[in-house]
Amino acid sequence: MKQRKIPLRKCVACQEMKPKRTLIRIVRSPEGEVSIDLTGKKSGRGAYLCGQASCFKLAKKSKAFDRALGVPVDPAIYDRLEQEFIKVEEEFRAASAREEDA
Ligand SMILES: [Zn+2]
Repeated sequence: MKQRKIPLRKCVACQEMKPKRTLIRIVRSPEGEVSIDLTGKKSGRGAYLCGQASCFKLAKKSKAFDRALGVPVDPAIYDRLEQEFIKVEEEFRAASAREEDA
């Protein structure tokens, strides 16, 4: 098996470096809209977060997205993203588990 370099990114909440595919990307579009980017391909300034709700909670508490995205993020947006995050978290985990099996 060839050894591949695994791209690492830092989680904005817990500050740990992790393989990019285990992280969920949050993106601020050029229009200023903050959303979850499961494809990792949306344009805009991005921030990475571990695929787990505890890191989202930590990010919310410490306003980590404000710093990472360079804009003040409204608490209502954190709340909305948290709901989405919890939904995608399950899918995301199932997807990474499938990838590991393959
Ligand atoms: Zn984390």
